Amino acid sequence: MPDSDTAPDSPDRPSILGPAAGFGVTFKAMFKKRLTEQYPEQKKPTAPRFHGRHQLNRHPDGLEKCVGCELCAWACPADAIYVEGADNTDEERYSPGERYGAVYQINYARCILCGLCIEACPTRALTMTNEYELADSSRESLIFTKEQLLVGLTEGMVDSPHSIFPGADEGAYYRGEISAAAPGTVPQERTDREKETHS
Ligand code: SF4
Ligand code: SF4
Repeated sequence: MPDSDTAPDSPDRPSILGPAAGFGVTFKAMFKKRLTEQYPEQKKPTAPRFHGRHQLNRHPDGLEKCVGCELCAWACPADAIYVEGADNTDEERYSPGERYGAVYQINYARCILCGLCIEACPTRALTMTNEYELADSSRESLIFTKEQLLVGLTEGMVDSPHSIFPGADEGAYYRGEISAAAPGTVPQERTDREKETHS
């Protein structure tokens, strides 16, 4: 057995090469590719299927795809979604079918961006974008409302509520037979409840 006081690698008497080995690690790291990301000045693109902020989609004529079924809310493991459905009428129509999502909220203080809600949605009304900058300084501001989540209008769309495409039924929308709003389509008047919700 070697004497512990005289052994070269004794913990009580470190090798003289120890510091040099440490500088060697530093020296090697100087020539490696830097991994530091200069966020937020330089934003790294996300993967194409990244799970970011949600989006409520529209049909090509501007009517909403959400039918207020609450399946997304039931699927959510974090209890982050709140939905209230309501009936469409001919005077105030938000989606082609019987029901629409009158109140829709996602609480980003709870959401873990798992995507289970978008898997549960039967109409592809709910999808996720690549936007990930969701931090804020108050709980209230992290509760996104329907107005914040509803996608903007693109060419051929008229803002909801408005009448269904003349001669079409709900199925025509899901068969892809509606490509834009019918000529002359104009937004309908919102009821007081909807005005409050949207104000
Ligand atoms: S992404 Fe996950 S946690 Fe977030 S709202 Fe959807 S189901 Fe809930
Ligand atoms: S987003 Fe989809 S799952 Fe959620 S209430 Fe609307 S239609 Fe139903």
